[in-house]
This record gives sequence, C-alpha cells and structure tokens, in this order.
Amino acid sequence: MPGVLVVGAVNVDMVVTAPTLPSAGETVVGPGVERHGGGKGANAAVAASRAGATVTYIGAVGDDDLGRSALAELRADGVIVDNVEVITRCPTGVALIVVDENGENQIAVGGGANSALSVEHVHEAVSASLPETGCLLVSTEIPDRAVAVAVELAIAAGVPCLLNPAPVTPVVHQLVGSGAILTPNRGELAALTPSELAGADRTIEQAVVRARALASRSRAPVVTTLGAEGSLLVTATGDAERVPPLPATVRDTTGAGDTFNGVLAARLARGTALRAAVADANAAAALSVAMLGARAGMPTDGEIDAARA
Ligand code: ADP
Repeated sequence: MPGVLVVGAVNVDMVVTAPTLPSAGETVVGPGVERHGGGKGANAAVAASRAGATVTYIGAVGDDDLGRSALAELRADGVIVDNVEVITRCPTGVALIVVDENGENQIAVGGGANSALSVEHVHEAVSASLPETGCLLVSTEIPDRAVAVAVELAIAAGVPCLLNPAPVTPVVHQLVGSGAILTPNRGELAALTPSELAGADRTIEQAVVRARALASRSRAPVVTTLGAEGSLLVTATGDAERVPPLPATVRDTTGAGDTFNGVLAARLARGTALRAAVADANAAAALSVAMLGARAGMPTDGEIDAARA
C-alpha cells in the first residue's frame, strides 16, 4: 500500500515543571524534568505510523546524542528515518518548555539542524520516495525553500499533498494555489485570510467565511482544526461541513494538531475519501489530548476505529 512521506522538523523537548513561569532575568526552580521527542514533522510521522501507515520521515538532526536519540524514538515507532540529513557542527533542534502549576507554558525553540535542512537533500530524498508515496505531509519550521521544493515535487507527480502552515511563513502564501490541501488551525487561518474578515473570530461561522476565502484562492480543499470545536472541511467549491469534536478528557493539547495531520495523511495515503479521513483525524486528535506529552496519547489504528464506532 502507498505510504506517507513527512517533511518537517524534529526536536527534542526539554520540559521543566515549576511553580511559576520565569520573568526576564529570573530563575525558577521546580522538581520536574522530562525529555520528549517533538517537532511538528516528527510528531505527525509518529501519529501516521500508529494509525497504520508505512511512514518515511525527512528532516535534519545534528551529529550529536540528542539527534541519535530523536531518531531512535522515531524508529521505535516504526518510522523510516534512513533519509534524514545528519548535519555536522550543528545541534539537533531543541524546545525549552517551562510548565507552571496551572498548566500555562513558555516555550523557546532553537531550530538547530531544522533550520539548516538543505534544499538539495529534500529534493533528492523526496524524489526517491515519491513513487511509493500515497500522501505527502509538509509542515513549516524548516527553511521555506525546502517546504516549496517538497510541495512542488509532489504536486508535479500527482501525489496528494497536505501543507500544515504551522507557523505561517512567507512560503505558505506563495503555495496557496499550488494544489496542496492547507490544514491551518484557527489562528493560522486568520493569518492566511484578509484582515477585513476580522471580527467575531471565535465563531464557527467566521471560520467558514475565512476558509471559503482561502479555498477559493487555493483551488483546493481547506481543512481547519477548531480545537475543542472539532474541525471544518471546506471543499474547493466552497461546500462547508463542520466535523464535531469527539468528547475528550483534556490533559494536554500539545501535539493535537500534529496528530490530526498525521492521521489525515495516513488515511489519504490509504485511499480514504477526504470527508471520512477528516473524521478519523478528528477522532484521533481528541484521543491524543487525554495524555501528557505530544506523542503519548496518539492512538493506534484500532483505537481510532473503536472511537468512531
Ligand atoms: P493545534 O494543536 O494545531 O492548535 P487544534 O487546537 O485546533 O490544533 O486541535 C487539533 C484537533 O485536536 C482539533 O481539530 C480536534 O479534533 C482535536 N481537539 C483539540 N482540543 C480538543 C478538545 N478539547 N476536545 C476534543 N477534541 C479536541
């Protein structure tokens, strides 16, 4: 069966739990220290693999212990990492996260090797994998030119392509109209649509107006994630359907969007129609928020089916 190809960032998340978040110049000391695999690309690759797809991940790590451990974690989740670029004299990407007693967080990301991922590497690795690929998923947090080359190769080969614009960078604006299916969250949807549409941005109706505007420009469907309100599918011709959220026990929403994107890609690669693929992604993301950590709650294929039954 055709697999999923993911191009995006991989990080190591260092999480400190402390009584309060530090202010400028302040040191806070808390008891908890945890290390988790992270990065939107790598997280989505894990979600797609757990959902039953054969997944190849393309990105970059440094030639260091953190990079080796990040790849080992991906391998343990069944993700193929043979074509990850290893960049010497460049650290693996790290996210420094402080979480306070109320669950509020503060995050600083050092892109490291993600920022040095080369266009040549992406060109070569994507070209080699495309013949076995049923869906390409690309997220930002890597150089814009690497994003563009991956999307353009997939579209030229007729392979369905998801572009997760997280965060919205200049290349995302350029790729509206490329044929890629955009998967923004609410904030990203607002950043991609004209500011005159601002106003009641919290309503679903407003998200529909914005998603229709984006779909008509992109001439492709737009899938918007709406957090606790589920998700919204707008077709290229403007038909809108909200997929309501599955009831969830919320412990940690980190990685919910990555789960959504990874499962959506897994289903499209399998040949599932977009509407049903969105419903599965929506269910999987609701399951994922029940556990602490971006990857801990990502469900298996069987768990997704059971949640939808
Ligand atoms: P991101 O994490 O990228 O900001 P969202 O917050 O929109 O993305 O969440 C992604 C998806 O996770 C949503 O579309 C929904 O399916 C699921 N989700 C998030 N929060 C909840 C929640 N409280 N209850 C149920 N599902 C949720």
